[in-house]
Amino acid sequence: MTELDKKTGLYIHFPFCVRKCNYCAFLSFSADEGVRREYAGALMREIELAGRSFSGQISTIYLGGGTPSVMDVSLLSLIIKKVRQCFDVAPDAEITNEANPGTLGIKDRVVRAKLTAYKYMGINRLSMGVQSMDNDRLHMLGRIHTAENVVRDFDIARELGFDNINLDLIFSVPGESTEDALDDAKKIIALGPEHISCYSLQLEEGTPFYEMAERGEITEVADEEDRGTYHRICGLLRSSGYEHYEISNFAREGRRSRHNSLYWNMDDYIGLGLGASGFTRGVRYRNTSDLSTYLAYYGGQDADGAEWTTERPLDEIHENTDFDNISEAVFTGLRRTEGITYEEALAAYGMSPQKDAAEQFWKIFRDAEDEAKRFADQGLLIIDDAGLRLTEEGIDISNSIMSLFV
Ligand code: SF4
Repeated sequence: MTELDKKTGLYIHFPFCVRKCNYCAFLSFSADEGVRREYAGALMREIELAGRSFSGQISTIYLGGGTPSVMDVSLLSLIIKKVRQCFDVAPDAEITNEANPGTLGIKDRVVRAKLTAYKYMGINRLSMGVQSMDNDRLHMLGRIHTAENVVRDFDIARELGFDNINLDLIFSVPGESTEDALDDAKKIIALGPEHISCYSLQLEEGTPFYEMAERGEITEVADEEDRGTYHRICGLLRSSGYEHYEISNFAREGRRSRHNSLYWNMDDYIGLGLGASGFTRGVRYRNTSDLSTYLAYYGGQDADGAEWTTERPLDEIHENTDFDNISEAVFTGLRRTEGITYEEALAAYGMSPQKDAAEQFWKIFRDAEDEAKRFADQGLLIIDDAGLRLTEEGIDISNSIMSLFV
């Protein structure tokens, strides 16, 4: 039995989508109701087994995908019930469901019924994959919804009392200008969500967009323009009252994503479901991404007496060394606007608070120090007595800066 961190998250993956978006490289696919039902059964078995392996409280639950909102509400309700039976879920747990417009229902009354059911299940945060408020761009992205669906679903969610809603925005879509992206951002801000996530579109290998770019049918937005759009969106969101707290994330006061913050703070999280990743007590793992293997294992074995051991089907498992822990702490900590303190980094390394924390930190990262100072001289990184953080310009080359600490 593994003792959990005080703050531990639970991520549950639902790999199903109505159809694949043109830019999507996530583990998702369409499946009929029978497969979704079978998956729910296997998932509940995995929840049972995992529940027996941990003691401690769950502070956040994140139902992600894919699109969890394509799941039948009765199945989703059974899954959440199972989580509550098998884990000690904190009474004030943040419970997020990714609820994509277009999957909540065609008719208003269906959307209302589905969202009401979510409320009854204890879901208290919605994350909607809006991506754009322009119907032509939504069509090009391969999204199944319209801007009108977004407004309708959002309004119904508000009517029902959801007071913690995230909306996702994608920018740098081929053919989209900075002004177009700002227009999308303004329309999203006008809805008044508590949280907005903004991502620059990446042409990932294996996606229809990637192939279209290879054939010369679409052109990737140039890096300089992409960065320019990003900074304009950051400025707009900040001037609209959103705190820029992570490279891609903005929140109203007190509305940061508690679940995603666990990732950037190196807290524990358990990942359940197909292809889900987890990090508990210094061990990183990723579940199998092969559906038949997953269904055969969790759908087939007798739960009585079984354990959630390393024998379960995993694509990866890795026990972090102290250096892995500090390296990941710096890497993920630099994603946060406040950056990482030397104390936090050293704690990840297993060291107790030190008077000369900065000195100890740079002793561990001796090889990175000169280069880091060069970035600081160029105004891309701030290094002070407490720790280090990226400047807004530094975010543009965040990977190069972060990779110094790997
Ligand atoms: S809805 Fe999300 S997970 Fe599903 S195909 Fe589109 S981008 Fe991928």
